[in-house]
Amino acid sequence: VPLVLTQFLDRAVKLYGEKIAVIDGSKQVTYSELNDRVNQLSHGLKALQVEKGDKIAYLAPNTLEMLEGFYGVFQLGAIMTPLNTRLKAADYEFILNHSESKILFVEKELFPLIEPVLDKLQTIEKIIVHGAEKDTDQYMSYDRWREQYPTTPFDRVELDEMDEATLLYTSGTTGNPKGVLLTHRANYLHAMSVMHHLRVSDRDTLLHILPMFHVNGWGSPFYYTANGATQVMQRKVIPPEIFENINKYHVSVAHMAPTVLTMLLEHFDEGNVELNKDQDMRIVIAGSAPPPAYVAKVEEELGWEFIQVYGMTETSPLMTISQIRPQYDDLSKEEKYALKAKTGYDMIGCEVKVVDESGEEVPWDGKTIGEIVLRSNTVMKEYLQNPEATAETINNGWLHTGDMAVRDEKGYVQIVDRKKDVIISGGENISSIEVEGYLYDHPEISEAAVIAVPHEKWGEVPHAMVVKKKGSNLTEEEVIEYARSKMAHFKAPKGVTFLDELPKTASGKIQKVQLRDQYWGDKD
Ligand code: ATP
Ligand code: MG
Repeated sequence: VPLVLTQFLDRAVKLYGEKIAVIDGSKQVTYSELNDRVNQLSHGLKALQVEKGDKIAYLAPNTLEMLEGFYGVFQLGAIMTPLNTRLKAADYEFILNHSESKILFVEKELFPLIEPVLDKLQTIEKIIVHGAEKDTDQYMSYDRWREQYPTTPFDRVELDEMDEATLLYTSGTTGNPKGVLLTHRANYLHAMSVMHHLRVSDRDTLLHILPMFHVNGWGSPFYYTANGATQVMQRKVIPPEIFENINKYHVSVAHMAPTVLTMLLEHFDEGNVELNKDQDMRIVIAGSAPPPAYVAKVEEELGWEFIQVYGMTETSPLMTISQIRPQYDDLSKEEKYALKAKTGYDMIGCEVKVVDESGEEVPWDGKTIGEIVLRSNTVMKEYLQNPEATAETINNGWLHTGDMAVRDEKGYVQIVDRKKDVIISGGENISSIEVEGYLYDHPEISEAAVIAVPHEKWGEVPHAMVVKKKGSNLTEEEVIEYARSKMAHFKAPKGVTFLDELPKTASGKIQKVQLRDQYWGDKD
């Protein structure tokens, strides 16, 4: 039996048909009702001549309509292509044309985002709008359209597990976003691994906080659906509303960006929140490295187990997890928090190594830096229309992440920097992230990014791009002097450029490529 994603919904319908599958504001549907809607969607897509391999784009926050899209699209063997809702019109033009998407589903309030480029979309044949009551000359109303079609089982297109299920674009942190093609098998095995590690079951209620369109939230509809869990849609990040939903729906698990977790902690600290006495929240999963003190706060004040995960679009996405393995149950609380704050160790099905330039694994000593590489069935098939980038990234079956890390004696990997951002000065590797950490501690610095610039004697030296806090008169000399008082002199920036803001991706990552361009632009 090929590993195809439609099996997950089939299982939920069979075992949990009358259970609430999705809660989205005032809308609640059971698994069998969800399946009915999925079938209507598939019949509708077939009427629009959608065929196996066609790309179907989605521009939507976390909604019932987005979730049913996953399965409705797969029944035709079509490829789900979600779009980040925080891009600019030109980005949508690029992605929709590059992917050759055929149909575009859009949430009504997001339609203005693509309106400016409608006449530049070369392959989109129909736009269908979620939440629109009427058809217009630009689009069809989703509900009116879907409701014309029967809920009868859809005659599925035959699929092989190596057929493509998803086309996801990378964040574009290190260059232009790349289209990543993931197969049914990759998504399927990734889901099996995550459900094992998080112990997902029909007792769970998930609050979808991370956007499903993004690499981090991608895939959660698979593992929670397969287990008949209830999925609550959180359309926007509003801390009081998130706590309210957690209480009201007895939420047991949530995946979120670390910034959201910080917002929740701050709101909680203000004393406005009362969590249910016998709260069900058992786990919160975040995709970045917080300080151990922050892990302690989540565990002790909120009472939620904290787990860090690491992944990338190219790997379906998760490959490491930081939860404490029972063999370390005897460690102290502090030691456990320090481990959970690390990037993590291999998830089931993922073979993770940290290697040196020659491909040899570095010692597990917590200090030798190497690149993280991965061998797994969850690795992408290829970058769409980009064989050079594919060949650069996947080498002899190993995917090169471009992330530099150290590994400790327990096997926990800790990312230190992106390969492209490491500064090599006088033979020493300097982590730009580490230097930035010190700069962020300065009371007058609001944002900082450190890049490598060439130097006659040292090869490269660190250079800081700094955004000052309002009203600050900080000078270049003061920043350099401060840095030299805080860190080894070779790590301290040798020059500073002050900017009004730092260039960022839609998900908030600082784009150092653009900073490097800016640095050189200033010199010319
Ligand atoms: P692009 O590939 O287009 O330059 P990107 O790499 O930011 O953009 P994503 O696939 O969204 O695109 O992000 C994956 C990257 O995010 C990883 O390679 C890693 O650098 C970073 N990342 C993910 N999880 C973690 C984590 N737990 N800790 C630190 N960094 C992380
Ligand atoms: Mg990347």
